Amino acid sequence: MRTSILAALPARTEGTVLGRRFFALAIALTLITPAGCSSADKPITVTRPALGTVVTINAYGENPRDVNAAIEDAFAVISAVEAELDAYSATSTIAAINAAPFEWHALPADAVEILDAIERLGVAESFSPTLLGVVKLYDFGGDGHVPTEGELSAALQTASMPERDDDRVRFLGIASSTAEPGLDFGGAAKGLALDRARDALNAKGAVTGALVTAGSTTVTLGSKPDGEPWRVGVEDPRDATVVRMTAEWTGNGALSTSGDYQHYFEHNGVWYHHILDPKTGTPARGTRSLTVVGRFSGLDSDILSTALFVDGPDAALAYATAHGLGVYIIDSEGRTHLASAPADSSISLSEQSE
Ligand code: AMP
Ligand code: MG
Repeated sequence: MRTSILAALPARTEGTVLGRRFFALAIALTLITPAGCSSADKPITVTRPALGTVVTINAYGENPRDVNAAIEDAFAVISAVEAELDAYSATSTIAAINAAPFEWHALPADAVEILDAIERLGVAESFSPTLLGVVKLYDFGGDGHVPTEGELSAALQTASMPERDDDRVRFLGIASSTAEPGLDFGGAAKGLALDRARDALNAKGAVTGALVTAGSTTVTLGSKPDGEPWRVGVEDPRDATVVRMTAEWTGNGALSTSGDYQHYFEHNGVWYHHILDPKTGTPARGTRSLTVVGRFSGLDSDILSTALFVDGPDAALAYATAHGLGVYIIDSEGRTHLASAPADSSISLSEQSE
């Protein structure tokens, strides 16, 4: 089954392919636990497939008709982002750019926003939106494939950032390469889409509080009527039934988790997953799961969870401390690392005892 890899799939499949075990595993990473609501305070909850996963909007407000209308607006803007940025959709704007990569193309505004955010956050060395050809080598959506050195180096040559002229872009042709370059905003698009959804929910004043989640990224708006905090749980990377950490906050915030278990296969005892080190084109090692949480946009949180996953636990903890973010890491040995969000952010991170 070919699916978008903008995000996790909501289901788990398992099988054996060509004598090696192949897993495509993806589960929503967050648990939402609305607590303490009287029936009058219950949110309107709508769940739909979007962004290659399942998006759920929980929205509070006085007037159910207006809240429902705002939820429709939110899903419409999510679809609009998807129509621009999904590299795996035949009809997206990005797919059209990738189909003729050496010609000049106007970059969609969403892509410009993501490229600018990568620069602003200072993570261009670990977050690269040009790894499409490298990711495809691994065939995560199919049988799983371990690329040869030659395949990797050819694909990596194409993966340098394209030439950019204001908001136009083109890849530079590399004569020796057989691999085609391509843009892939799968590590950031969910966050951007959820920001747009939050804006839509907020636009007409009908929604007083909302939690929007695409599984690996969650954004919140305002507060619940009873003042209870938003709660998001992060699951164990090897056991989806176990919650390892719960984050709580009121008001606007965002949380993203990147994990080595969303798209992966095992070959000869080696775990190959979908978050790649741009320097080598191989799966980033050192981390199984990394969560960032803060008073920032969904876009920033989505970019940062991917980038800090690549950087590894030590650099991730240092970045989080320097930038006032909460971070929770389960490393490749199963050890946990937690950097609390700063006290003035009023975001609490609690690790569950095993
Ligand atoms: P996320 O689940 O947000 O961490 O995003 C993972 C997705 O981002 C992968 O499925 C790829 O499409 C893409 N990706 C993989 N490695 C990187 C990287 N180093 N920088 C940016 N995007 C990446
Ligand atoms: Mg991401």
